[in-house]
Amino acid sequence: MPIAATRSFVLGTLPFSEQDKLVHLLTNDKGIIKAIAPGALKNKNRFGSLLELFSEVEFQYYWQEEKELVTLSKGDLVKSYFQIVSDPGNIFYFYLLAEILLRFVPYNHNDNRIYRLVRAFLENRAEGIEMNLLFLYFLVWILRIEGLMFNPGICHNCFAKEISHAWLKTDFRGILCSQCKTNENVMFTGDDLQFIRWTEKHAPKELAVWQEKIDCAKLIRTFKQMIEYHGELSLKSSQYLPEFM
Ligand SMILES: [Zn+2]
Repeated sequence: MPIAATRSFVLGTLPFSEQDKLVHLLTNDKGIIKAIAPGALKNKNRFGSLLELFSEVEFQYYWQEEKELVTLSKGDLVKSYFQIVSDPGNIFYFYLLAEILLRFVPYNHNDNRIYRLVRAFLENRAEGIEMNLLFLYFLVWILRIEGLMFNPGICHNCFAKEISHAWLKTDFRGILCSQCKTNENVMFTGDDLQFIRWTEKHAPKELAVWQEKIDCAKLIRTFKQMIEYHGELSLKSSQYLPEFM
């Protein structure tokens, strides 16, 4: 039973057996993994605050060759984000964030950018960056990392560049200029398109410059739908954030 260690964010826990919990982890080097926390249900102190949503933990674990589940042996808390995550103004965003990571990112998709994106989200929220802007930034990047973000600088049909505003194709795979538009009804302003490009090169701590320029709720709704469309899923946690339904 080889022993390994990984730094992770906790994405959620479920009862697994009478005594054990099943834990979903976003690791910094192996993507998302499922782990058993033995005794965590029976004895609350066994893992304590290590299993709170979005706790950052250095876990030690072991596994058996044939099994897809690993077993946690112990963990050291790197950083608790409990205060930020459990804040009533934040908690539903973090539920939705965890659900997107769990259901949209394939298992074993090993891309360290996802881990860094989640850490940046937590750190910047702790610094007071506005939640909707941060959440929007996350959505744009998770789509980009999964290879599903369209090119915001070119019409998908006629390849026109320098478009001042555009419509999103109904299959979410590109934008159309005003010449090529037919019955699409999601419109992006020039600022919307510029924002998408801006996220490629800028850190979330600079997000405040967009506060008055873009309609955050509209963009969050659109990118959430894009995730649901491409992932062939319906995000249940979004029911708690009705403005994005
Ligand atoms: Zn066009």
